[in-house]
Order: sequence, then structure tokens, then C-alpha cells
Amino acid sequence: MKEGCGAEKEFINLDWLGRYKMKDSENYIIYALCVKLIMLLQKRGYCVMRVEVNQDLCISCGTCIDLCPEVFKWNDDDKASSAVDEVPVDLEEQAREAVESCPTEAITDI
Ligand code: SF4
Repeated sequence: MKEGCGAEKEFINLDWLGRYKMKDSENYIIYALCVKLIMLLQKRGYCVMRVEVNQDLCISCGTCIDLCPEVFKWNDDDKASSAVDEVPVDLEEQAREAVESCPTEAITDI
């Protein structure tokens, strides 16, 4: 495309993005709304939370199992692993706490 012909401006005009410039508090409100939207979608079955334990990183401290025994269990190698394919919606907060509390960051929230 030839520069200065005006056609490129038509396709890459990003002026509309200016509307989304926000202060920090407004960003927080958008973030909170996104979290609520995701939770609603999860409740309706559109997206689900899954957890996976990296066996090489797990040091068998048991924190995740103590915090959320419905989602994490011991496996045959005495390491933690996921006990469910999908985390039930009512256990997501507990599961997230377990993910954040893992001292070696062995748990991935998929
Ligand atoms: S909290 Fe982390 S290191 Fe501890 S048992 Fe669970 S996955 Fe393993």
C-alpha cells in the first residue's frame, strides 16, 4: 500500500481506543466486572477451572491438600495431584487459595 494515500488510516485508525483510557479505580471496576463475568460463565458451564500439579516441583508439603482436600489428593509417589477433572464452582476459591499457597508454585490453574 502506498504511504500517504489515506487508505491505511482507514484500517489502522485506533482513535476509538482513547475511550478506554481509565484511572486506576476505573480499572479496578472493570477487573471486578470481568471476574464476575467469568464466574457467571463458569456457573453456566462455558468455562471451567482445572488444576495441574507439576510433579517435579511438588515437595509433598501437603498445603494444597489441607486447604482443599476435595480437589487435591496424594498420588502413589506421595506427591500431590488433582483429584478432579474440573474444579466445582463452589470450590474454586479454595482451590485458588491452594494454588497461591503452594511454596514451590507447582500448581497450575488452567
Ligand atoms: S502445596 Fe505444592 S508442594 Fe505442597 S503438596 Fe501441594 S503441590 Fe506439592
